[in-house]
Amino acid sequence: MIQLFMPLGFLGFVYREIKGSMANIENMFKLLALRPAVVDAPDAQVLDSTANSVSFDNVSFAYQEDRPILNQLSFTIEPGKKLAIVGASGAGKSTIVKLLFRFYDPSSGTIRIGGQDISQVTQHSLREQVGIVPQDTVLFNDTLFENVRYGRVDASREEVENAIRLAHLDAFIARLPDGGDTLVGERGLKLSGGEKQRVSIARTILKGSPILVFDEATSSLDSRSERAILDSLAELAREHTSLVIAHRLSTVVDADQILVLDQGEVVEQGTHTELLRRGAKYAELWQAQQSRAAGETAPIAVLN
Ligand code: ATP
Repeated sequence: MIQLFMPLGFLGFVYREIKGSMANIENMFKLLALRPAVVDAPDAQVLDSTANSVSFDNVSFAYQEDRPILNQLSFTIEPGKKLAIVGASGAGKSTIVKLLFRFYDPSSGTIRIGGQDISQVTQHSLREQVGIVPQDTVLFNDTLFENVRYGRVDASREEVENAIRLAHLDAFIARLPDGGDTLVGERGLKLSGGEKQRVSIARTILKGSPILVFDEATSSLDSRSERAILDSLAELAREHTSLVIAHRLSTVVDADQILVLDQGEVVEQGTHTELLRRGAKYAELWQAQQSRAAGETAPIAVLN
């Protein structure tokens, strides 16, 4: 029997290795498509693994020289706090995430994590430190458990189960024919946008990075999915410094600070209550979203 199991075990190992490489190749292509020009400084340091504050100091950026996207943007997220960025489509929200991940370098200004300039640290240590829940989650043709384990391939089953619980995916999994062993992805069960984002949240919990970036999906969610995501985000925010790129204002009401971005500039800043009281741009967006939501009972309205 052992003669049969040893090669099978090895095959399983090879399969996981290949699957890991495929995912890396996929990420690599995404990065190549973005721009591979960012390289580590010759004397790049390792980012302090306990660093968990984020600051943008007068950051400007343009994809093409004649078209500025971000203009002297400054903000700080203190350790353990949640900062949300809202604004119309094209305002530059996702660009901020790309700069924080150092897919691009700013044309001027400095981005720091725990006081260290991110252009002076290794990209590897930077990306270890920041966990991202992207708008679109890639699922592999594998079980739901394995899809979550991708967040940290050496995680135990218990750790994966814990992440699933914190991401509020457990009730959903309990309803599946084979529970966590159900196949998902192209050749398996198709997950909704909200369920996919929760898989991604579980992966990020497993990865254990102290800084979390949540790039909210733009597509409408039904109110149950939205609630589950808000609950899992609240769980994450308790232990992370969070940056939330929000398309629904419901995601930002509890943020410690909200930035309203317009054409790459911060036009308003404050908490939900402060911004509503101000009665300007944010209050307008809130009003518009409330009236839309009242008109559409199932899907929650989005900002753009
Ligand atoms: P949305 O809410 O629609 O996701 P956003 O606020 O996140 O929008 P960004 O994705 O940051 O906006 O884009 C800001 C501007 O930069 C847009 O005008 C966009 O067309 C432009 N842009 C984004 N990516 C690139 C790129 N790779 N090359 C050139 N221009 C780009």
